[in-house]
Amino acid sequence: MALTDLFDLGSLRLSPGEARRLELTVAQDGLELAGERYAIGPPQAPVTLEVSRLIGGGHALRLRLEATLSGPCMRCLEPALLTIPIDAREVDVPGGGEELDSPYVDRDLLDVRRWAHDALALAAPSQVLCAPDCLGLCPVCAIPLATAGPDHHHERAPDPRWGKLRELRLE
Ligand SMILES: [Zn+2]
Ligand SMILES: [Zn+2]
Repeated sequence: MALTDLFDLGSLRLSPGEARRLELTVAQDGLELAGERYAIGPPQAPVTLEVSRLIGGGHALRLRLEATLSGPCMRCLEPALLTIPIDAREVDVPGGGEELDSPYVDRDLLDVRRWAHDALALAAPSQVLCAPDCLGLCPVCAIPLATAGPDHHHERAPDPRWGKLRELRLE
């Protein structure tokens, strides 16, 4: 299937008030979160683009896709895989001021790839976890607590200073 980076909205020749739904394929780039690189799938994602030509000129746009994000869990570093539904909207009205000027539309060219990437970055959770209740790593020996089992613990070595203090008090 042909990949779409830039989509020419003018090519649809929509009349004011008319709308069209398109199925496109967009290449997806990886994403950096908290200093880690996360892979975004599928590399070539099917997206649904809805384009409505506004009565006063310009377009209302809606982009939907489902992406996966994979990489290390931020708590335990085990592999994590999340499915992220994306439903983003933009309005672009030439001369309509900053509010109505989409950063993804230049004249009639829509940067679908960059929009999809930014929408994913916005939809991605701030914490990427292997499971919502990931227990993280043991602070002493750094093994994942989920695999270590509930009995995992370490005998705490007595702090030698307390011994000294006890001796002093007994005197
Ligand atoms: Zn985890
Ligand atoms: Zn431990």
